[in-house]
Amino acid sequence: MWRILKSIIEFLLSIFRPADPSGEPEEIKALPHPEEPQDEGITLDNVDARAARQAWYEQWQVPDGHRLFWDCIRIIPAYKYADPANNEYWNSEIYVKPEWCNAGIIAHEQAHTAWFNLLTAEERAAFESEYYRQLISDRWMIYLNQVNWYMNTSTVEAHAEVYRYLGEKMPESLKQYYPKLY
Ligand SMILES: [Zn+2]
Repeated sequence: MWRILKSIIEFLLSIFRPADPSGEPEEIKALPHPEEPQDEGITLDNVDARAARQAWYEQWQVPDGHRLFWDCIRIIPAYKYADPANNEYWNSEIYVKPEWCNAGIIAHEQAHTAWFNLLTAEERAAFESEYYRQLISDRWMIYLNQVNWYMNTSTVEAHAEVYRYLGEKMPESLKQYYPKLY
């Protein structure tokens, strides 16, 4: 009798207990690299572009063997442009407002460097079709698309935003379109 009662109780408990999450992919609630807000305390007098670049190297795990290449892209704090940052990839220079001089902004801009200076037209086209494939199938990409609107402005911006917010969590099939970043 006790055994029957016990199994009834267990059955009832199982109805009200949430399903065992093991085996199910964990629900995504945050980006791997959330946006850093602008910091009004950083000015042209105290900005440290080298430290911001180093933070990008470490947090995005830029391969040691490629850091010399990225060291050659000058990061220049300035109010030259209206946007927080602007990439003069033809000059190997990135201009960034001091309050925006952070790892995530540099990650975004260096993805532009890779796009304009390291990818061929064929590779850019191949990225675009794979990007749209992943946008409806990869759970990180689906989540990013829910919380980010800027990636819909152009393929170039989409390429940069995927790297900036997902980093190593981006789909494996996209990493080949980020030369010297993986
Ligand atoms: Zn951009």
